[in-house]
Amino acid sequence: MMNRKYKLTKMGKILFIGLVTIICIITILAIYFFMKKETATNIIINNEKYSIKIDYPVVENKKLSKEIRNYIDTQKNEFIKEVKELETLETKYDFISSFSQTTMDNITSIHIKIFSFIGGNHYMREDISYHLNTNSNEIVDLSYFLDNETSLTRLSKLAKYYVNKYLEANKSQIEDFLIDEGTSVNLSNYQIFSFNDTGLEIVFPPYQVASWADGEISITISYSELEGILKPAFLKGINVIDHDSLTPKKRNIDEFKGSKLIAFTFDDGPSNGPTNRLLDGLNELDARVTFFVLGSRVNTYQNSLKRAYEMGNQIGSHTYNHLNLLKLSDYNVYKEIRDTNRAVKNIIGVEPTLLRPPYGNINDDIKKEANMDVILWDVDTLDWKLKNRYKIKDEILKHAHDGAIVLLHDIYMESVEGALLAMWELKEEGYNFVTIDEMAKLKESSLDKSKTIHNFK
Ligand code: ZN
Repeated sequence: MMNRKYKLTKMGKILFIGLVTIICIITILAIYFFMKKETATNIIINNEKYSIKIDYPVVENKKLSKEIRNYIDTQKNEFIKEVKELETLETKYDFISSFSQTTMDNITSIHIKIFSFIGGNHYMREDISYHLNTNSNEIVDLSYFLDNETSLTRLSKLAKYYVNKYLEANKSQIEDFLIDEGTSVNLSNYQIFSFNDTGLEIVFPPYQVASWADGEISITISYSELEGILKPAFLKGINVIDHDSLTPKKRNIDEFKGSKLIAFTFDDGPSNGPTNRLLDGLNELDARVTFFVLGSRVNTYQNSLKRAYEMGNQIGSHTYNHLNLLKLSDYNVYKEIRDTNRAVKNIIGVEPTLLRPPYGNINDDIKKEANMDVILWDVDTLDWKLKNRYKIKDEILKHAHDGAIVLLHDIYMESVEGALLAMWELKEEGYNFVTIDEMAKLKESSLDKSKTIHNFK
């Protein structure tokens, strides 16, 4: 009997310890995934039916950070719900949330831009902006930025003028009564705004100044026109950059002649951690790459961009908001390309000459409009999906060849680490790593703006 009792107790102990261990493991895993979810700054989902791409801003104010995250996630979940009920299209449904973040005179401004495509001809756009006084931790509205009592009246006149100009450029119908009402001297008309590199951007939601079909209308009023309207502290612009002092490091590429070459390319950045880790690694490898940057991110991560450029890497354009160019009006295609070139030039002093359209989607009309060299890829690592440096490395090694263009993303640490691991191994095999321009020179291929480049075979 005693023996049996003892046995049961032992069994009970084992069960108990087992149970506790399992609970502990589950708790640790739950905390791990929760933390990972909380700190994720990018999300990419890509399946047969839709793609989702989200950049979450990182805000020090926890409450605001949470509010923004909830706002974006609510929109995302609504999109998924809506799309699930729709029939599958030839082109994918699409959800993109990007942001710009600037700080001027103790005010941190965050402008979230959400674009969704759920059929029809156009994206729907929905913006929201927050302005946080970092001294008082309070959210402020446009009145905080205005200089005097006449400011709003003068701003309203300018807004009316630019809305008209926007609608003309976009060949939209002009409804005077909507414009008068929507731009009238009333703070509630000016809830969505932010500061960009050229001026004050004001966004009017659908139906505020134009017909519903025109969607959201965005105008930018230059700082020079805002004198006496904005307080002087907000007139200097977000970037006072001395880009004349930026000189890219030169190197002699003659020694690479006849060797095997690969052009590594990194999309969707720049970022803070991953871009800088990559740059450190490239330095050790004496390698150079090409960055296809998003216009919406270059101001926020301008130090990474400057550093990449100064190290001799090439900076290309991946457009401003990562939209499918095939689904945009001519005017918005033009804006996506022009605004990116302008934003990049504002920081490094030169405009990009290379364009990588999001999803690789482009047609002859857009090529003509862009007048840039269109660079796609022939090695797609699927790094955003693999999220594992060793798998990404293997994928690169499996497909590497002389003249290859490899697609990666410098918003993920695993992508960057995988690329560097692959480069070290490929270097042993005699490969050198060059920018697109260096590759074209070495392969004596004159880039042709009417063509789409996938590699340099
Ligand atoms: Zn991309």
